[in-house]
Amino acid sequence: MRVLLFSGGVESTALAYWQRPDLLLTIDYGQRPAAGELRAASHLAQQLDLPQEVVTANVAALGAGDMVGRGMASHSKVSEAWPFRNQFLVTVAAMACADRGLKEIAVGTVITDRVHPDGNPEFVTAIDALIRCELPDARVTAPAINMTTVQLVHESGVPHSLLRWTFSCHRETVGCGLCRGCTKTLETFAALGLNTA
Ligand SMILES: [Zn+2]
Repeated sequence: MRVLLFSGGVESTALAYWQRPDLLLTIDYGQRPAAGELRAASHLAQQLDLPQEVVTANVAALGAGDMVGRGMASHSKVSEAWPFRNQFLVTVAAMACADRGLKEIAVGTVITDRVHPDGNPEFVTAIDALIRCELPDARVTAPAINMTTVQLVHESGVPHSLLRWTFSCHRETVGCGLCRGCTKTLETFAALGLNTA
């Protein structure tokens, strides 16, 4: 089975539409905006007519930055950085799906995620090798890692009507309009000519 880490944001929604995975996996790891992500992801999964599961694995006590309402991680210059977050999320997906013939864990990393150590091609290569130590037939992929979000949206062909339901806030359960997640989404929508009024 092919699983996609699905937060209900623009990138994972475009990837879901483009790649049609067997399962959309949404993880509540204790992030402050979790309720907003879950609400958007559930609705989008229905619209996409794809199976979705929610896994809860709360590590809020170990978080840093915007997504847990604390100060920035000391090793990062990016306000939403959460140490080892993507490594944790891929591992949770592997745990959740290991006994179901797992073949692929896809993540919605795009080229602008290279501000994060776990948004780099080197990270994807390393965690792909790590997962295969235990599941030799499984791969970790990031199909849009060399694309911007706008390029991914164009490549995927995802309808703009679906993108209106996405949720990308880092701080709140309804879009705050101010954080890096909201700002990036508003810039993406403007570049796509998608009116948010
Ligand atoms: Zn926000």
